[in-house]
Amino acid sequence: MSTLRESRPTYAVIDLGQFERNVDVIARSLPEGARLVAVLKADGYGHGAVELAKRLTADRVAMIATSLLEEALELRHAGIELPLLVLGPITREQIRLALDNRITIGVIGPEELAFVCDAARECDVAIHLKLDSGMGRMGVVESELPRVIEMIRATPRLRIDGIYTHFANADDAADPFTEIQIGNYDRMLAVLREAGIDPPLHHFANSAATLRGLVRPGDFARVGIAMYGPEPITIATGTIEPVLRWRTEIMRLKELPAGHAVGYGTTFHTTRTSRIATLPVGYADGYDRLLSNNAEVSIRGKRAPVVGRVSMDLVTIDVTDVADAVIGDEVILLGDSITAEELAKRSQTISYEVFCGISARVPRVYAEGGTFHIRSRFAE
Ligand SMILES: *Cc1c(COP(=O)(O)O)cnc(C)c1O
Repeated sequence: MSTLRESRPTYAVIDLGQFERNVDVIARSLPEGARLVAVLKADGYGHGAVELAKRLTADRVAMIATSLLEEALELRHAGIELPLLVLGPITREQIRLALDNRITIGVIGPEELAFVCDAARECDVAIHLKLDSGMGRMGVVESELPRVIEMIRATPRLRIDGIYTHFANADDAADPFTEIQIGNYDRMLAVLREAGIDPPLHHFANSAATLRGLVRPGDFARVGIAMYGPEPITIATGTIEPVLRWRTEIMRLKELPAGHAVGYGTTFHTTRTSRIATLPVGYADGYDRLLSNNAEVSIRGKRAPVVGRVSMDLVTIDVTDVADAVIGDEVILLGDSITAEELAKRSQTISYEVFCGISARVPRVYAEGGTFHIRSRFAE
């Protein structure tokens, strides 16, 4: 199943050129000396981390960050040579594996630091240290700093390359909490500096903080969602556009009389003679069940409503008002004017989950100079 024609007609097309343009627009927006850390966790938010990473050169980004150690190893094993940062958490047993593969560990607390210090008895270890500036999830809290400082001082072969924190609500510019977090972070940095721990690298900004211009000169910015284009976003240095287009085709098209039921639970009944089209995609592919009777698709440049329940493998749409629709027509689930933001609102979530939710059953198709490269879990 290595050609598009042999593949199921439901697949996601990833525009690597658009990905590069988005990265460049964001990189150009950074202040003097600041650099991008491209966040490719969760398989590059469902887009395909390896394929995206191959487009990230050292002049574009300083590092790639993942959540899991496995995600970083996947990139290393695919030949990605950029510095890799694992945001973690990782287990004690994984530390050796990280070091052997030149993967920087983002240390998320004193317990993990103790494991890392153990490893640093036998070899040099470089880490980034995470501080909890108010989010309450990962990172060292202020009261733990004395203990952390003591451990670092007692471990000469441990090198702190960077210090970072994470914002809880940077996408709400009206929420003063981000400023409070920055204040807490600066205070903790000062305590560490006082103790002689003063690494060259600092980073706190996610996409929202970066687009708000909160990145400091010389800092890193850890950017994920903005690289993928959850919706078109215009900033001073250009426009960020969606990278992923999720498409399928009409496989069955029928005329139903007024008053006919459609789908499980008979939640939809036609109110007129209707043309109902069946699409080979469902919640097992990541098309959320909350989109039942509650979304639109794009077909022949027009929008058509999803009618009835989204089932595991099938979706039904009403194309009565798309008079020329026929079997085999391309149907866009995500793309054209339908953004991840729109689907997210309709399914009561965020664009991140829409992207991550597109399951492994959906092949990813990469356009490469006129030819296609398919990544499918069904490929041999
Ligand atoms: C996911 C993540 C990011 C990226 O966040 P976006 O909102 O996608 O830019 C940055 N830092 C950390 C610690 C993260 O977990």
